Amino acid sequence: MSEVLIVGAGIGGLSAAIALGTSGEVKHRVSVVEKSSVLSDVGAGIQLGPNSTTILIRWGLGQELSECAFEPEKLQVMSALSGVELGSMNLGSSFRKKYGAPYFTLHRADLHKMLYSRVLKQGSAVIELNKELNHFKQIQQGVEVEFVSGSKNHQTVFTNEQNRKSFDVLIGADGVWSRVRSILNDMSTKNLAYSESKQDLFKPAEFCGDLAYRSLVSQKTLPKKLRFNSVRVWLGPKMHLVQYPIRGGEWLNSVLFIDTRKLKNNSQYLCYSQPNSNLLSWDIKLDQTQLGLFFQETINQCCPEIMDTISALGQWQAWPIMAKAPLRSELQMVAGRVALLGDAAHPMLPYLAQGAGMSIEDADSLGRQFSSLSEQDSRTILSAYAQLRWRRNAWVQQRALLNQKVFHAEGLLAVARNSSLRLFGDKLLSMPWLYGHKNM
Ligand SMILES: Cc1cc2nc3c(=O)[nH]c(=O)nc-3n(C[C@H](O)[C@H](O)[C@H](O)COP(=O)(O)OP(=O)(O)OC[C@H]3O[C@@H](n4cnc5c(N)ncnc54)[C@H](O)[C@@H]3O)c2cc1C
Repeated sequence: MSEVLIVGAGIGGLSAAIALGTSGEVKHRVSVVEKSSVLSDVGAGIQLGPNSTTILIRWGLGQELSECAFEPEKLQVMSALSGVELGSMNLGSSFRKKYGAPYFTLHRADLHKMLYSRVLKQGSAVIELNKELNHFKQIQQGVEVEFVSGSKNHQTVFTNEQNRKSFDVLIGADGVWSRVRSILNDMSTKNLAYSESKQDLFKPAEFCGDLAYRSLVSQKTLPKKLRFNSVRVWLGPKMHLVQYPIRGGEWLNSVLFIDTRKLKNNSQYLCYSQPNSNLLSWDIKLDQTQLGLFFQETINQCCPEIMDTISALGQWQAWPIMAKAPLRSELQMVAGRVALLGDAAHPMLPYLAQGAGMSIEDADSLGRQFSSLSEQDSRTILSAYAQLRWRRNAWVQQRALLNQKVFHAEGLLAVARNSSLRLFGDKLLSMPWLYGHKNM
């Protein structure tokens, strides 16, 4: 029986643990290590298209998913300047019929809890919290791993046999700041046999210049005109606002994205783009009054609905948006017995709402490769997984980058965008290549 280590119990890591446990005859023992001591509800809302809900349903999570998710009626694209609708697409039952699975919005914590409970119920993996991967080394028969435990100030480096262990396979599902990726990066830059083009395969993600301000409030607390049952995306110069209900429609999740690079007052950009700035967190809290103060130039031009929304929601939290250039080859997802999955492999802008979706697709493909190639050497299995996944991930990363330009457009580009949405809204938004993808 082979030993598989998954590093990170986020959406990708837990999905991988489920996929490996449901992939036919189990021929591997799976351990998941998570550096946090509690599985926290970091983050707010998340959208899942039918490309990922279909996988969760196939894993037998349909009932739990529909209990904690919300199915919005429509996707509406609005002008942040005039407040008018530019284009829309029906979600709900017609979308479900078209793609065979629903479009859901949900709280990240609910999705996380659902995946965690499923891993425990399945009994196919052991999850250890408060255990952080510190280092690994590939040896001939496997991967030798060293862990640390405890808070940053009081870390214990394990030296006993139990915690300095060898595994046959290591899956790095440790998110945008991936330690696994950075160790691979160190190895490839030190490897003189590698050509220059191979030396930047595992480069870190970078701050893209956009800040996200998040807010989550009960719809009951809002004036009636600010409550709704759809996904709304408001587009304006250097900014966009995404809003949708979660938890049975009772809560409204809002994320305001602002491109800080070209603002006259770009102190926020300068603050976050410093090499030593503290970006190593999803949850940087800023004084909410800074929103109006820093971004007057962007926000003051918006329609009354957005101005009302911003003042009604009150409390906003900043979140720097990190990304990497789209993958260029399968070699960026695998190195021998080590593979990357989810944000660790392909951090992407959230402008197609697909980061979690891609980590679920990655996990499903990984499980299928373990099942169908079970007689093969684990390096062959991981390589087949990377071959299958890299182009799809690269394409989604690319489209998210394009959306950044289109969403935040000004001048003629904005005029062209608005006209296209008015004429072909439903066609442009439907994206069968994305939502109708048959995962392998
Ligand atoms: C504003 C915003 C909105 C978004 N909206 C959407 C959306 O609507 N739809 C969508 O699909 N995606 C969305 N995303 C993206 C999505 O949240 C991520 O792509 C997804 O969470 C990635 O999952 P992951 O498992 O790869 O990484 P993570 O969820 O980051 O999990 C990584 C885990 O690894 C652990 N870890 C890290 N290092 C170590 C270590 N050394 N040892 C052990 N454990 C470790 C971490 O503690 C963490 O638990 C959004 C992102 C942002 C920023």
